Amino acid sequence: MLKYLTVPVTAFAQNCSIVWCDETLDAAVIDPGGDLDRIESEARRLGVTLKAIWLTHAHIDHAGGTAELARRLALPVIGPHPGDQFWIDGLPQQSQMFGFPPAGPFTPTRWLADGDTVQIGNSTLNVRHCPGHTPGHVVFHSPEAKRAFVGDVLFAGSIGRTDFPQGNHAQLISSIQQRLWPMGDDTVFIPGHGPESTFGEERRHNPYVR
Ligand SMILES: [Zn+2]
Ligand SMILES: [Zn+2]
Repeated sequence: MLKYLTVPVTAFAQNCSIVWCDETLDAAVIDPGGDLDRIESEARRLGVTLKAIWLTHAHIDHAGGTAELARRLALPVIGPHPGDQFWIDGLPQQSQMFGFPPAGPFTPTRWLADGDTVQIGNSTLNVRHCPGHTPGHVVFHSPEAKRAFVGDVLFAGSIGRTDFPQGNHAQLISSIQQRLWPMGDDTVFIPGHGPESTFGEERRHNPYVR
């Protein structure tokens, strides 16, 4: 079964998640935006072995620590979708603009596309491409655990910003309705910022998408 621990990182309190298979204790880090020492010490405390970095999208608060963590632990970088190449290229400028520690660009070991799967230990997660906040945004869904790691697509009571370059509001709404809702009302999602919620709760009460 898939387990996870969410570790808020960076000045933006971004929900970095350590996800692991409780049979093999192999783990992936979703969105290591920064505070890498803290992520590594949580992994040690949990007794899991970090095997991969998975990225939802390439904004600095989600991807800023990727190059450094991949170098430290020799980890493959999985994702995001190639639509975010320009955000990866722009990481050095993003870090300056938002006062983050210097962030180097990187080349994903594997890009992701809609319908792909990613594996950690004996757990498999489905990848859905959810553009709108960024063009290359993906989410990771575990049907077994009824959990979805959705980055900045959807929040409890809100949705992702679409006022960045290549943001698209209509596309974001369509991603949420066509690709998140079918995961089921009882699926718990872990957003990039703020508390968890369920898709059913947001379908009923979120003013942006109900
Ligand atoms: Zn973002
Ligand atoms: Zn974010």
